[in-house]
Amino acid sequence: MRSSEQLRQQLTRLDGKDYGAYQSLTGGWSFPDYDLLIDRIPKDPYAPPSTGVYRIRIPREDAGFPDWMSEIRIKEVALRDFLARQFYKQSTDICKGRRGTGNSGIITISQPGQAILERTSIVVNDEFVEARICLGMPANGRKVKATVAEVMLFEELPEIIRLSLFADNLDPEHLEKHIRTAEDAEFLREKLNDLGLVAFIANGSVLPRESGVEQTPLIESNVVKFKSPESLSVRIDLPNAGTIAGMGIKSGVTLIVGGGFHGKSTLLETIELGIYNHIPGDGRELCVTVPEAVKVRAASGRSVVKTDISAFINNIPFREDSSTFTSTNASGSTSQAAFISESLEAGAKALLMDEDTCAMNFMIRDKRMQQLVAKKDEPITSFVDKVRQLHTEHKVSTILVMGGSGDYFSVADCIIQMVAFEPQDVTGKTIEIIKRFPTEREQEGESTLRSPKKRIPLNKGLEPRNEYGHLRVNAPDPKQLIFGAMKVDLQELEQLTEATQTKAIGRAILHVKSFMDGQRDTQQIIEMVRDLIVSDGLDVLDDRLTGDLAEFRGLEFAAVLNRMRGLVVK
Ligand code: ADP
Ligand code: MG
Repeated sequence: MRSSEQLRQQLTRLDGKDYGAYQSLTGGWSFPDYDLLIDRIPKDPYAPPSTGVYRIRIPREDAGFPDWMSEIRIKEVALRDFLARQFYKQSTDICKGRRGTGNSGIITISQPGQAILERTSIVVNDEFVEARICLGMPANGRKVKATVAEVMLFEELPEIIRLSLFADNLDPEHLEKHIRTAEDAEFLREKLNDLGLVAFIANGSVLPRESGVEQTPLIESNVVKFKSPESLSVRIDLPNAGTIAGMGIKSGVTLIVGGGFHGKSTLLETIELGIYNHIPGDGRELCVTVPEAVKVRAASGRSVVKTDISAFINNIPFREDSSTFTSTNASGSTSQAAFISESLEAGAKALLMDEDTCAMNFMIRDKRMQQLVAKKDEPITSFVDKVRQLHTEHKVSTILVMGGSGDYFSVADCIIQMVAFEPQDVTGKTIEIIKRFPTEREQEGESTLRSPKKRIPLNKGLEPRNEYGHLRVNAPDPKQLIFGAMKVDLQELEQLTEATQTKAIGRAILHVKSFMDGQRDTQQIIEMVRDLIVSDGLDVLDDRLTGDLAEFRGLEFAAVLNRMRGLVVK
């Protein structure tokens, strides 16, 4: 390996040459405390930073992280996640930012969100700690700007590395807390099944977020901390935090009711994101949900390919069989039915719904409407007539925010009312109300709920090359996947939180495409992706060692695939 001094000399020789000359720096360079490995430098200063591949490698012993921090998977994931955050923070503080054309002068790493995720930006193993970073080699126009490159590589980068990747320079309490917090949350989530719960929200949690676009906790003097009603309170012993108490939501059908602005949606959002372990300070560190919980909503306009929605919608006028429902522009109700069917197909165990984002005609059909419009003239079987069957026949629970219709009282196991951000158990009260005011609406639809037909997705329409023949799989933001010439709109996938996850899903689709050969159904393809990543890690998804991938669920993988407009199903 060449020395860092040789790198300095080489840089001086490149000054003023065409930007492409930077590519002569490809290879390994040995700095006093670490190796800089340059796998790829783009030819163009405007190329997205992710097209370059730069790695920093420090011998594990020198980095100084004790063995216990990586003795089990969750701890190792949390350690790596912590280091990614440190690097991100230090690079933001130390790097002076853009200096020159395009991405000149930037030093950064994929920005982590509120969830502690397995991510490829930091690797820790017995031999080394490796950071995979983004660098924008600086340019004047399209010419090498060596003086700035020298500042970046010999002043800023060494300082960022020193302060973020060596244990001695990190706050040990902070780091330990990060790991212990993740361990507790993971433990708690694994306990849910034994306790018969689908979700748990610890007392003292801070649920509201800063804003619709900021996932950081709302910091205001009048924030109401979460407090479970006595009847739903559950106590659990955790490995680190000791005994904690909070509200347990049992499997079955749970309604969240209450007036507008009383905190219903905020509670549901906490449950949605309880599939992730949150960073310390998030406010929802001890709010967990079963890993197979899916937020389902209506999204009119989406494409649907041969999804079996017949359990919910039948006899659509002038349409063939709704067991292979196809649309390039689905309505609110059909998109919601498709979302549910596709989630069941992909292994969902709990459905989360908020009336704010549901199709009204899918959710309710009251007595008066039943009198006016006969069932034979209504293709939709209201969800109120299906929600119990989902649980009794398929063991799929539902948590539903429903402030608008009392018809759901009769099908719920538990009803929670939010009153000024405090949950109250009103199940008993509603039993009284049901007695006094019977709905008299008739149960409609079939007496059982058929599982959706399995589908076999084909690779035909999934072309990862764009109109110029370039391979393009990218995620500019969490809710958008670029796959070849296709732009996949993922706005409705509320549990997809980072662009790194979206990109990893895109790469996974690319990776298993050749196995979509008409032999495997969706479930088998999901399992294939999961097995592959479990055995070989996320790196298996890219032929280069990139730092912009993060873990994702099979449920989101399937949801993305189902929203690709080129999808063809056998
Ligand atoms: P709903 O769905 O019942 O209409 P939301 O959950 O949307 O109510 O909450 C209404 C507003 O109150 C939101 O701006 C939210 O951030 C805020 N909020 C939610 N929970 C709390 C809380 N525990 N303390 C303070 N503000 C909260
Ligand atoms: Mg709401």
